[in-house]
Amino acid sequence: MQMDDLYQEMIIDHYKHPRHAATLTDEEVLVDEENPTCGDRIRLTATVAEDGTVSDIRYDANGCAISVASASMMAETLVGRPVGEAREQIRDFVELMRGRKEIDPSELGDLVALEGVKNFPMRIKCATMCWHAVEHALNQLATA
Ligand code: ZN
Repeated sequence: MQMDDLYQEMIIDHYKHPRHAATLTDEEVLVDEENPTCGDRIRLTATVAEDGTVSDIRYDANGCAISVASASMMAETLVGRPVGEAREQIRDFVELMRGRKEIDPSELGDLVALEGVKNFPMRIKCATMCWHAVEHALNQLATA
């Protein structure tokens, strides 16, 4: 099996079975972001526990496979991590997508499947939108 096919399958799997996806009420939604160039949308909520770890991320994502798969991988990557570490992950992933950072593939987990997106400038926003959304949610929680 070609690596590209494997990555494609990982993206499709997350798209069809998005981890941490949920139906959110308007009251729960902390962040609502859209990517008009592709028609992607994400509504997201997060909680931070008293010990400062990201205890939950739930979202309602509609859009292309890349946008939904990225949200699923993002939630899987960040839930359970200390907020500071989560913020670092967010920064690293966005920099990776912008081609400004190299990350050892062994450290990426499933995110490795999205790395190729950086070669398609029109699709980068599809992959990064949910990461910006969760960052905004964490910012809100920090000032709450
Ligand atoms: Zn998209």
